[in-house]
Amino acid sequence: MEKLPPKKALPKGVLAQRENGLYSFSPRTPLGQISAEYLNIINTVVQEYNLPSVRLTAGQKLKIQGIPEGCVDEVIERLGPIGEFSKCYVQTCPGKTTCRLGMQDSMSMADKLEKLLNTIELPWKFKAGVSGCSMSCSESYVRDLGLVGKKKGWTILFGGNAGKRVRIGDILIEDVGEERAFEVICKTLDFYCEKTKKRERTARFVERVGLEAIRDAVFSS
Ligand code: SF4
Repeated sequence: MEKLPPKKALPKGVLAQRENGLYSFSPRTPLGQISAEYLNIINTVVQEYNLPSVRLTAGQKLKIQGIPEGCVDEVIERLGPIGEFSKCYVQTCPGKTTCRLGMQDSMSMADKLEKLLNTIELPWKFKAGVSGCSMSCSESYVRDLGLVGKKKGWTILFGGNAGKRVRIGDILIEDVGEERAFEVICKTLDFYCEKTKKRERTARFVERVGLEAIRDAVFSS
């Protein structure tokens, strides 16, 4: 029997939809912000390729849906820099830049965090949320990594999940400045990457290894 040619690998970030031959893609929208220029580009692409819809995801991302197989590369290219794939997206709120309840600058923190996370080879799906105050509009308590701004600094949570086994993240440290926050984040992620099992999200990881083991690894040196 003649062997079928191998299926062409999809570009990073492109997902096959349930409908055969259609694909979706989330353009890069760092910090949930889209400039007027990019809105125009997205609108032009959606109209020109007659794409059925753009959806807002629960995680504040745009999802361009219904892209026919033959147009995937072109659509991404046409989107320009916004067509770049971001491995790890950090959900954030406006924080004290515009929100009257904001205690910390969540936008700046999220920007730095997203840059850090995109340099790390994380073992499995990873979600992060940065909220400017304890109202937690970015769902920091149910994210793999959550940051919450308070009067005296940042609270860092690890191991949250909003999936079918909901878990509130455990507090690793409170009232820390940016530098200390990143030290704790880096050490926590190092430990997670080293000790995790294949496809183990942080919530299940914390349950398996225990919070004390994580704290020991992060704070003992
Ligand atoms: S988490 Fe706090 S700072 Fe951020 S949008 Fe909500 S209320 Fe405002």
